[in-house]
Amino acid sequence: MHTLRIFTIGFVVAFGCPLFGQDSKSTEQPRRLYLDEFRPQPSLQVEEHILTKAKFPCVNVHTHPKKLTDAELDAMVDAMTEANIPVSVSLDGVVGPEFRPHYRRLTERYPNRFVVFARMDFIGDGDKDKPETWAVNQPGFGLKTADALSEAVKLGASGLKLTKMLGLYLRDGDGKLLVPDDPRFDPVWQRAGELNIPILWHVADPIAFFRPTNEYNERWEELFRHPEWSFHGKDFPEHQELIDARNRVIAKHKQTTFICAHMADVPEDLKKLGSYLDRYPNMNVEIAARVAELGRQPYTARKFFLKYGDRILFGTDGVPPMSELIPHFRFLETYDENFPYEDNPFPPQGLWNIYGLGLPDSVLRMIYHRNAERLIPGVKEKVAAWRKRN
Ligand SMILES: [Zn+2]
Repeated sequence: MHTLRIFTIGFVVAFGCPLFGQDSKSTEQPRRLYLDEFRPQPSLQVEEHILTKAKFPCVNVHTHPKKLTDAELDAMVDAMTEANIPVSVSLDGVVGPEFRPHYRRLTERYPNRFVVFARMDFIGDGDKDKPETWAVNQPGFGLKTADALSEAVKLGASGLKLTKMLGLYLRDGDGKLLVPDDPRFDPVWQRAGELNIPILWHVADPIAFFRPTNEYNERWEELFRHPEWSFHGKDFPEHQELIDARNRVIAKHKQTTFICAHMADVPEDLKKLGSYLDRYPNMNVEIAARVAELGRQPYTARKFFLKYGDRILFGTDGVPPMSELIPHFRFLETYDENFPYEDNPFPPQGLWNIYGLGLPDSVLRMIYHRNAERLIPGVKEKVAAWRKRN
């Protein structure tokens, strides 16, 4: 077991699973710590800017409010108001009959505060355990879904959302994983372009999730807690295969706008990501859940953000409370040093702190709202309404 190997090198681990016991014979000898017990408090004294408000109206293009109760939804909108976030994009719509109730719940209760993207319905009436019965494996899926997307746009949808299911979970009738550039989806990509709506696409995951969960994996503790997040082995593709397949779709559908979630899932290599943005003018990225990654390479990230500011959008994922928004604003706006990227005693996406980029106003404006206003239908009007009110 990989855990045992970690134990023997004396580091730690296994949440709540004692191993070395108390090392109490000598009072001078500190006891060994488990990795999840280690909570170093920095002695560093540097300036801190706890920003609870974005400097400019900020559009959060990556949120998931669907499962919230009314009270939780109220709290989400209150946090948005406090943080200067006029609009959040809900990525939780689905084409078909589910779209309308979700859209109405958000937009009637909170006029001008949400736009909604729709997902494809890959399964339809099929049996979850039998891929051969899934809608995605029936003839004509692409065209039918394109028409369902047109219908959703008539009902108010502002974009199409794709999850990492495509490439990592969805299978064809023979049980083989579907590839992101499977031609059956071409009518959908094309229709999105004709409808002038963007596709927000999450492909793959952090590179570490595709590597063995062993002592060399820098996200080991996370994969230990969530072994189901590992895509190493079995019949999973390589990380780069998924990225290349997505890029082929972007290259093929030049009239369609793509917003690649999570820094296109290559934030670990911004040089490579920059080469993609150079090659594909219809490709954009958003920062959701990647501040940890970006903030540990502040020199490289700052250069990247200055160069590609017109292609980067603000996003967080989930339903961010104020405590989660603060590190995002600090990261983008300040030169704060060595601060936690999440309000969590145990950093959940890598055991490190981050550094701010201190971006100039011109770049902040693009990332916070101008790019979203340009690329996502409905956002511009809502930000304007917010400005009028405030
Ligand atoms: Zn998400």
